[in-house]
Amino acid sequence: KLARLPYRKTLSEFDFTFQPSIDEKLIRELATMAFVYRAENVIFLGPPGVGKTHLAVGLAIEALSQGMSVYFTRLSRLIEDLKKANKENRLEKRMRIYTGPKLLIIDEVGYLPLDNLGANLFFQLISARYERGSIILTSNKGFGEWGELMGDTVLATAVLDRLLHHAHIINIRGNSYRLKDRLKTGLYG
Ligand code: ADP
Ligand code: MG
Repeated sequence: KLARLPYRKTLSEFDFTFQPSIDEKLIRELATMAFVYRAENVIFLGPPGVGKTHLAVGLAIEALSQGMSVYFTRLSRLIEDLKKANKENRLEKRMRIYTGPKLLIIDEVGYLPLDNLGANLFFQLISARYERGSIILTSNKGFGEWGELMGDTVLATAVLDRLLHHAHIINIRGNSYRLKDRLKTGLYG
């Protein structure tokens, strides 16, 4: 069922004791996939390495195990793909890849800024899924920085308005799991 996960890690492989800012009960509740039936969104925010992609993948694996259609992509790849389709006059058809699945995961929002066309395509997609299909999105940027990210504060506000209307926001404040062993031995030692 579609998916294209960047790696395969389940929620049971996630060490919640390492990341106490995450409400484990909320993640367990999300894992029931009730939010997908309600077409709600899930937003994971936080710096690199805190587990955003892992949790998104873990929820995707749950959704797949329940027989749901899931599509996973990074924002940069999504925008590149839609731009190409737009150029080749097949945007409407290509958009269905992203509007069709019950659950769409957009990873890594914020690492690369969007140009005008990219921001417009992103808005079109978010509007098309609004109250129709769930999105799990991960970002290293706070919502206040989305205007800069999209190069357009009006468009960013319109995107956030739809995205956040029915959303669970999980703000992860903690250390990078990737650096945990180095932090233990002293990062600069
Ligand atoms: P990011 O927040 O940048 O998306 P990832 O979710 O990709 O970070 O996490 C980086 C790596 O660390 C992955 O291999 C992930 O499985 C692992 N990881 C992160 N947090 C945890 C955790 N709390 N328990 C177990 N593995 C974790
Ligand atoms: Mg990531």
